[in-house]
Amino acid sequence: MILRQFGVLFSGMIPIFLIPTTTHTHYFSIFVVYHLIMSEERSLNFIEEIVEEDIASGTNSGRVLTRFPPEPNGYLHIGHAKSICLNFGLALKYGGQTNLRFDDTNPVKEDVEYVDSIKEDVKWLGFDWAEELYASDYFHQLYDFAVALIKKDLAYVDDSTAEEIAAQKGTPTEPGTPNPYRSRSVEENLQLFAEMKAGKYPDGAKVLRAKGDLASPNMHMRDPLMYRIKHAHHHRTGDQWCIYPMYDFAHGQSDAIEKITHSICTLEFVPHRELYNWFIEKLDIFPSKQYEFARLNLNYTVMSKRKLLQLVTEGHVEDWDDPRMPTISGLRRRGYTPESIREFCDRIGVAKRENMIDMGLLEFCIRENLNKTAWRRMAVLDPIKLVITNYPASQTETMFGENNPEVEGGEGGRDIPFSNELWIEREDFMEEPPKKFFRLGVGLSVRLKSAYIVTCTGFEKDANGNVTEVHCTYLPESRSGSDKSGLSVKGTIHWVSVPHAKSAEVRLYDRLFQVEDPSNEDHDFKEYLNPNSLQILPNALIENDLASAIPGKGYQFIRKGYFTLDKHSTPEKLVFNRTVTLKDGWVKK
Ligand code: ATP
Ligand code: MG
Repeated sequence: MILRQFGVLFSGMIPIFLIPTTTHTHYFSIFVVYHLIMSEERSLNFIEEIVEEDIASGTNSGRVLTRFPPEPNGYLHIGHAKSICLNFGLALKYGGQTNLRFDDTNPVKEDVEYVDSIKEDVKWLGFDWAEELYASDYFHQLYDFAVALIKKDLAYVDDSTAEEIAAQKGTPTEPGTPNPYRSRSVEENLQLFAEMKAGKYPDGAKVLRAKGDLASPNMHMRDPLMYRIKHAHHHRTGDQWCIYPMYDFAHGQSDAIEKITHSICTLEFVPHRELYNWFIEKLDIFPSKQYEFARLNLNYTVMSKRKLLQLVTEGHVEDWDDPRMPTISGLRRRGYTPESIREFCDRIGVAKRENMIDMGLLEFCIRENLNKTAWRRMAVLDPIKLVITNYPASQTETMFGENNPEVEGGEGGRDIPFSNELWIEREDFMEEPPKKFFRLGVGLSVRLKSAYIVTCTGFEKDANGNVTEVHCTYLPESRSGSDKSGLSVKGTIHWVSVPHAKSAEVRLYDRLFQVEDPSNEDHDFKEYLNPNSLQILPNALIENDLASAIPGKGYQFIRKGYFTLDKHSTPEKLVFNRTVTLKDGWVKK
């Protein structure tokens, strides 16, 4: 009970946490406190409240049917994931179903490549749709709806140019002015519309408009366009059509055809709702209802498909699934799991007002998830050789390392070969170590993870003064698991045995943009690209066990972060992507 009260109290404060603050760590710690309290019990979001009321009042006999309606003109991004989790989540929670409907009414920008990627991404996120549908399958039905409105004298063919239509629309304070085409007879409109469909007119020559209210304070009601002429090839209907319905005339009608009960979209569609309802009422079709929520805005990235496409076509990233992209496919390739993305969507909640979510929260979710699931391995990203001078050169020993000490039983483990020559991280040795450097320097001791305590005795340099080799001795009685040395050392470092190591390329990623809001109006967003968002380490040396790393699985490279195999990795050339660092070490520049 107390927890719940706190939850309500804290949930009222969400916007404070979500607005980017200057101190990143501050935001983070508050968030953790918030989550600890909220994780006990989450209160209903406003859409769940609506659905529960509808079920209680018997609206649509308590049936819940949602839809996820992507336009196949790009790959899905993390913002879409929010919409997917919301739509599919509602249906799952209330015993309903969700349709996957491709909103493919604009032939020019759409492609089957995008359709396939969208299906793959929704499935990967863990959701099953009831039906796979296409707005283009309704083109005949939509045409008939338009004819029905013409017959009711609620639609007319307009020969005006786009500029003329804009000029006649008025302003929010002045009503629009009717043009002569508005008073065309029903017969003339029917004939002209049929001719538009038959291909008699070139692009832009005519449009079909609804006869709304030219004095409406809602500009969307001032004779909105329903159809335009576009002699373009469609990825599904081919050259069958040369007129295409506008979003406003396709979306609500598609919802009604499918008998969608709750049509959930983002806030920019609030002013469209009146028109959505108007078409449904005038056509007397299934009364789907539109509800709007705040879209996901994430800092340090862009989410408009137009901008993402630009990054791809101009070569700023490798492809749509570049691990720096906020796309589902990019996040997957980077090593994000479906669970972590669903968890993120759950934590950000469903708001009615625009807000900005910190990228740190997404990283927090994957870090938490991988901490529980990733197998621990050792990899040296920037190697330097450590020679153990009192360990027999001919000897090899096998150490044991648990796969995951966070889980009871450790999820098994693997053998780690040990020898007198090891690779260690260059940064774990210092010629002149400062106080409190708990790693290697002459005279200092550390524990080699899962092996022995060693003490540094010296080092070698090349002609340029670079350290080439570090020397140490080991304590035979200090072996991990049976340590009888009685010594305790402050530092533990990771290592890889030189004769057993495999080499790999390791890719480290930073944020794609240098500023929180690259989409601000003043600049071209590409000016804010982070030139250091990708760092390639070509000479990493990794545990031999990682040669059989499982694609899609997360591995914790001890002390270095969470990694996963890249899709271009081959047995001959292993490539790993860093998913996320172990700690939130990101500092605002
Ligand atoms: P973009 O502006 O990036 O092209 P869009 O809204 O045009 O995106 P659609 O394919 O039409 O992309 O989106 C499918 C569904 O996903 C819509 O219901 C849309 O409201 C929702 N959606 C898109 N972006 C976000 C976002 N950032 N947060 C939440 N939902 C989103
Ligand atoms: Mg859209």
